[in-house]
Amino acid sequence: MTNRLLDSRFSCDCGKEHYITIKKILIENDAFNKLPEVMDRLTKKNKILMICDQNTYQAAGKKAVNILVKKDYDVNLLKIKGNKVVPNTDNLNKILNRITKDEYLLACGSGTINDLSAYAAFKRGISYSVIATAPSMDGYASSVSSITTQGVKQTYNTKPPEAIIADIGVLKNAPKRLIQAGYGDLLGKTTSLLDWKLANLLFDEYFCNKAFHIIEDELYKIINTKEGFNFRSEKNIVSLIKGLINSGLAMQLVGSSRPASGSEHHISHFIEMFGDDYNLKMPLHGTKVGIAALFTTLFYLELKNIDFSKINLVYNKKNRIKKIKNIYKNRSKPILKNLEDRWQKDNLLKEKLLNSKEDILLLVEQNLKKILKTRKILQQKDTLNNNIIKQIPKKLTENALKYGFEIRSRYTVTTLLDQIDKLEQLTDKLLNKYYQ
Ligand SMILES: [Zn+2]
Ligand SMILES: [Zn+2]
Repeated sequence: MTNRLLDSRFSCDCGKEHYITIKKILIENDAFNKLPEVMDRLTKKNKILMICDQNTYQAAGKKAVNILVKKDYDVNLLKIKGNKVVPNTDNLNKILNRITKDEYLLACGSGTINDLSAYAAFKRGISYSVIATAPSMDGYASSVSSITTQGVKQTYNTKPPEAIIADIGVLKNAPKRLIQAGYGDLLGKTTSLLDWKLANLLFDEYFCNKAFHIIEDELYKIINTKEGFNFRSEKNIVSLIKGLINSGLAMQLVGSSRPASGSEHHISHFIEMFGDDYNLKMPLHGTKVGIAALFTTLFYLELKNIDFSKINLVYNKKNRIKKIKNIYKNRSKPILKNLEDRWQKDNLLKEKLLNSKEDILLLVEQNLKKILKTRKILQQKDTLNNNIIKQIPKKLTENALKYGFEIRSRYTVTTLLDQIDKLEQLTDKLLNKYYQ
């Protein structure tokens, strides 16, 4: 279904006109054999500059180069050195200094290599494509890159690649921690999608069914396999990479990260932001999202136990400012600005809440199976286990759960729980499930 959406402009039932610029997504066994064909279609250049690192060259680059060379492509390599390549300005400059006008830019890697190449291509005003080497994150089809500039992680606008080429054999053999992160990032969409529906229900926020389903359909294939979940089965790996790529497409469709990033991502961003203070080796992005989703799925389940007729709506700006300053400290400035931006639009009136009570409970009820199955897979020994969860100090997880929702001006289940004065209490109750 996805390929029909590519390289096209169409009007949607949601009222928007959607446009996806990506021209080709190729996910199959021996996908590299078709690489020359894809390149022929995308560019008239017969020189290619491939960006990779040592690991991605071994995993996929070498084979891809051989196939391209046999079809008379001239391939130059820029292999970024180091065992752990980071997306910083040093590495970005290496690519920028190397790019020439007569070469087509082809990234070979996952998170970092893709982010660096996308941003370099954008800066030079050229197109690029990517060979996916691991199903580890949802950034392949994305139009933003995270680059660390002077020690600070920043998000930059870029352009999505023209083509994404994924060889299933390569993906299946990716390192365990990368696949783990991919499952975490994708399974987390169970709550980002619910958060989106919740905001649509309570505030009539814009919603697009198509964007919703291109993520949910693949996600559901993973959580609902008859054969049961298998970490490296071809079927699950294919749904995983599709779900991750489709998350990027969904974001392009609606022009924001709304479908793919909700309460679970805010919690993960908080952990990322404050993790440096603890000077610990942190799990990868998607793994943190998976850990957060263990809690956000529980938050949804807990909604069923709340007596809405007795709730106390708390909407006190002074209080929120005080807490933000107290928790975010020298990082408070943008968070306080968020609070200003969201204050009016997040104001939930008691009457509205009581009128929506049935619909909220119905939302949970209709998605109960998905929530429970998501939790089940997240807790398989290969995906997440208590040792991984405990890599994050309890206090950090606690603060992320209680105050992470302040990071983005986006209504989620955690925003709702805070407003009905249940978030802190529920966090204290649930945290002990995983930290004993
Ligand atoms: Zn993510
Ligand atoms: Zn739409």
